[in-house]
Amino acid sequence: MKLYATLHNSHNMLYFCPQMTKILDGKALALTLRSKVKEEVAVLREAGHRAPHLAAILVGQDGASMTYVNSKEKDCQYVGFESSVYRLSADTTEKDLLSKIEAINTDKNVDGLIVQLPVPKHIDATKITESINPDIDVDGFHTLNVGKLTIDEDTYISATPFGVIMLLEEYGIETRGKHCVVIGRSNIVGRPMSILMSQGGRDSTVTVCHRHTHDIREFTKTADIVIVAVGIPEFLKASMVKEGATIIDVGITRVDADNKRGYVLKGDVEYASVKEKCSAITPVPGGVGPMTRYGLLHNTLKSYKKKLNL
Ligand code: NAD
Repeated sequence: MKLYATLHNSHNMLYFCPQMTKILDGKALALTLRSKVKEEVAVLREAGHRAPHLAAILVGQDGASMTYVNSKEKDCQYVGFESSVYRLSADTTEKDLLSKIEAINTDKNVDGLIVQLPVPKHIDATKITESINPDIDVDGFHTLNVGKLTIDEDTYISATPFGVIMLLEEYGIETRGKHCVVIGRSNIVGRPMSILMSQGGRDSTVTVCHRHTHDIREFTKTADIVIVAVGIPEFLKASMVKEGATIIDVGITRVDADNKRGYVLKGDVEYASVKEKCSAITPVPGGVGPMTRYGLLHNTLKSYKKKLNL
């Protein structure tokens, strides 16, 4: 099944340009989708319902994690969700973190709970993920939700693969019968991505490549769709892709730069050269990242509606 029937077409004008590469503008699409959520929440509040509520736990001071959590908080504010962020010190014990999770798990007014990864080394990340109530596991990392995704049952699809699927659907990229190469096999991106692309609704023939694949080019050269999530800046070169392919760049790496922030964000694709050869491509930033942020809002709203039987 399709994850979504097309919600709207208002952003179509942003990309359609014959003979040119489609820029899959995740920023614009996420903005449209976020606005829809905002409208929906306003209607629900008008009808007397409480606001959807997302809780986030951040342990430690990792720069990228702090940025991600701040953005999630901002997104919640924008759409009218309540958001609680628990910023815990890096020396928080696993036991204390588990108690915090348990308290949130049993709070009837919380619809979504995420623990920002990575957690410090003295904490077992798997134990933490498994301790989250699967009903509010809006990151979709709990094994129960991963299992459901694997057998194509309704679940929370983790935000990044969900965002990519939405991007492909909304931009009308044909996936049926296409050869899709997913580079990377992590539990949060590559693995779920490969499963989703092979499932009914997408119907792609999927090849998964990873660090032990001998000659990745051999696979990517025949791919109609390449989804790359390795975390190596400019990993995918023009010489590795087929003319007219669709390229989805999930990678985000902070690369030192002589600017105010001290870094620039780089994707896993050598954008300038690959863009000349493919038919559609996501930019970094402004591609998959904003869609991931939307994915979390989507999942939280889904949990909220389920709780309130809406
Ligand atoms: P990860 O480190 O968990 O996994 C990386 C994967 O890449 C592994 O499966 C590994 O086998 C593969 N790999 C590593 N080197 C390789 C090589 N030389 N050739 C082929 N495969 C190789 O990373 P992750 O969590 O999946 O994230 C990947 C990238 O995506 C990172 O840059 C991360 O920041 C980014 N990311 C972006 C978003 C977003 O919203 N855009 C969300 C999650 C992750």
